[in-house]
Amino acid sequence: MIDYSDNRYSELFNKQKSNQFAIGKTTYKERIKKLKALKRALEKTYKRDIEDAIYKDFKKPSIETDLTEIYLVVKEIKHTISNLQSWLGKQSAGTPLTLLGTSSYITYEPKGVCLIISPWNYPVNLTFGPLVSAIAGGNTVILKPSEMTPNTSALMAKIVKDVFSEDEVALVEGEVDVAQELLKLPFNHIFFTGSPAVGKIVMSAAAKHLTSVTLELGGKSPTIVHESAHIKAAIKNIVWGKYLNNGQTCIAPDYVLVHESIKTEFIEAFKAKALAYYSESPITSESYSRVVNERHFKRLVASLENAKENNATIEIGGDYDATSNYIAPTLISNLPDDATLLQEEIFGPILPLKTYKTIDEVITYVNSKEKPLALYIYAHNRKFINTIIKHTRAGSTCVNTNALQYSNHYLPFGGSNNSGIGKAHGFFGFQEFTNARSVLKRHTAGPLYLLFPPYNALKEKIANLAIKWF
Ligand code: NAD
Repeated sequence: MIDYSDNRYSELFNKQKSNQFAIGKTTYKERIKKLKALKRALEKTYKRDIEDAIYKDFKKPSIETDLTEIYLVVKEIKHTISNLQSWLGKQSAGTPLTLLGTSSYITYEPKGVCLIISPWNYPVNLTFGPLVSAIAGGNTVILKPSEMTPNTSALMAKIVKDVFSEDEVALVEGEVDVAQELLKLPFNHIFFTGSPAVGKIVMSAAAKHLTSVTLELGGKSPTIVHESAHIKAAIKNIVWGKYLNNGQTCIAPDYVLVHESIKTEFIEAFKAKALAYYSESPITSESYSRVVNERHFKRLVASLENAKENNATIEIGGDYDATSNYIAPTLISNLPDDATLLQEEIFGPILPLKTYKTIDEVITYVNSKEKPLALYIYAHNRKFINTIIKHTRAGSTCVNTNALQYSNHYLPFGGSNNSGIGKAHGFFGFQEFTNARSVLKRHTAGPLYLLFPPYNALKEKIANLAIKWF
């Protein structure tokens, strides 16, 4: 047993540990009551405060906050409220012939005490979204949001205090050291959203206690544009999906692969749409947010300068302003394959464009990288679409749009390997925070009893028949 009594969060952890069975016993009606209280806080009491806090943190337009932070969590709550009674009911399971005389079911029991570590890019959505699934599952929860959006984290701490008691849900603010200290505790489940590098740290800390993990990570999500695509409609979606939240979206198009025959048309349409969305002077546009902080601004500018040194072509944008962490909506072509922009997740408003000639080239290129969180296809050629889906791997795919898969709570959301482990949203999120417990009940003696000891030749025959026929 690892001793954690000197951990600065052990008292809070122990409070939740003592309370976990009381919370776990709650009915679906009681859980719905809590979800409703959270919903009220987000859509009524604190709506304006949330918009203001995120605006202070990275100038996010309030409409983007409404849609991508408040609306998505409220929608998760509504979906959960509508389905919770059925998720918590016994799910009957089949009975094989050899087990005649028994019946079986599955019941979803709480994991126990859970830790949710969230990133800064959608601070409210990625903190409270998983919390909805954790509450639905009947858990107690400690939340650790990102230190990079301090105004929003402080506000979320207030909301949590207002809605929950500390022995059920608590929010701990602080830097990386806080997350490191929390990770030493023997949680029953950790739900982490962030980078693959930190995901590995979380998973190795969890391994010490055999704590289960959900890792919602990132990576380079490709966007593939075929000659059969309707370019104008494609661009409408790509420009929105890329520059929403200033490109700081885990499922934003990270790079575009465009068929060489439509490169010029693509770039012209892209320029026109970026202009229409963000004006000739995006720095003054109220629809365009900022890079979250100086560290990320410097990282992105370094990759931009690296591209320029490599004689890449800046098709649009490319300018920046250090005083406000502003980088213009940027599209870059003619990059060498070893450029930083084609090697690392960009997570900012810069989009590299690569051309291709054949579908095999696309498949080979995508598969040469880690499995992405999302892969987007713009095409109207069904064979092309199906071949790409069949021959590549990704957490999710949209055809002729992007980012919308996140808002369908009937779909599992998450990556695979480097882009994540486990799924979020709706029933899939509920499953992460619960254990599917199997229950088998014996009603009468069944055929299996014929095979109990002492063993003999007849029983061996019956066993062999069972292997062959059942
Ligand atoms: P990050 O991994 O740097 O930080 C995430 C959280 O981990 C923060 O709360 C931070 O305090 C904590 N943390 C940082 N270093 C740590 C350490 N050494 N030990 C323990 N905890 C630590 O990620 P970020 O910069 O906040 O977010 C960007 C990344 O998140 C991108 O890679 C993006 O693709 C990914 N992301 C994924 C999803 C998804 O749903 N799959 C959603 C949003 C962001």
